[in-house]
Amino acid sequence: MKKTLALVATLPLVLSLAACGGSEDGAAADGKISVAASFYPFAYAAQQVGGDLVDVDNLTAPGVEPHDLELKPKQVASVQDADLVVFEEHFQAAVDEAVDQADRSDDDTLDVASVVQLKPTQAGAEEEHEGEDHAEEDDHDHGDEDPHTWLDPQNMIAIAKALETKLAAVDPDNAQTYAANTTAFVNRLASLDKDFQSGLATCRTRTIVTSHAAFQYLAARYDLTQVPIAGIDPSNEPSPSQLADITQLVKDQGITTIFTEELVSPAIADTIAKETGATTATLDPIEGLSENTADEDYVSLMLKNLDTLEKANSCS
Ligand SMILES: [Zn+2]
Repeated sequence: MKKTLALVATLPLVLSLAACGGSEDGAAADGKISVAASFYPFAYAAQQVGGDLVDVDNLTAPGVEPHDLELKPKQVASVQDADLVVFEEHFQAAVDEAVDQADRSDDDTLDVASVVQLKPTQAGAEEEHEGEDHAEEDDHDHGDEDPHTWLDPQNMIAIAKALETKLAAVDPDNAQTYAANTTAFVNRLASLDKDFQSGLATCRTRTIVTSHAAFQYLAARYDLTQVPIAGIDPSNEPSPSQLADITQLVKDQGITTIFTEELVSPAIADTIAKETGATTATLDPIEGLSENTADEDYVSLMLKNLDTLEKANSCS
């Protein structure tokens, strides 16, 4: 009897919370607009554009490598109920699936793959497609496109502007605030882009040996050549012959630095460095913050990356 009473007593609260989650005016339980972002760079961008008006839920917890993310039921519910979802199709399969299954419209869903120009996966960094019929590849997915769009500041500008449009659609009363926030954020990104252009204008070498194939967009923007150790997904480790090729290239080009990253084991990079007499340095693909970078953000980490690149490649 007691149990039944308790259930009745909590029922109105449960109902009112549920009603807030999917309400027409887009208000979250605390009156803020709820944004579910698939991983850190998009969560950061949504926070910059939304400011105090949004509550951003990053689906990839700090310290977690976002490739091959798995979602908890609570996070699947967040993809269903959030006022806005931002993700990039074909990067995190679990998020793609949750978005597919959620009853969402184009107005309240931002697929970053639709607002930036995706590049084909760099030769040598393709994912393994064991036993896959190549004739089928064209129509089943875009898995052969490189997802690491956010490492080009100009792509982040496009993402910021798309977020502004979506937030203004979800919450038109505050469109002016979103526009002002976006202008300030875009100015910071444009300044970052300028810093990269001038910082990397003249370098002794333009080749970068990276932990995994995350830096194609950055390399393309600033005229660098990426030689990735692992593939598009950090778990795609190189074969012994690929490893030998990279080691030879490091020796041939007199490359002095092998880049590692926070969320991936440096074991292979360390081996190459040892064999070639190179050193290692962290080049952050900014797929998520870690214990060591908890106080940083996208812009500060990109500036650290620039500093690291300038030193490693002797740029002036
Ligand atoms: Zn990656």
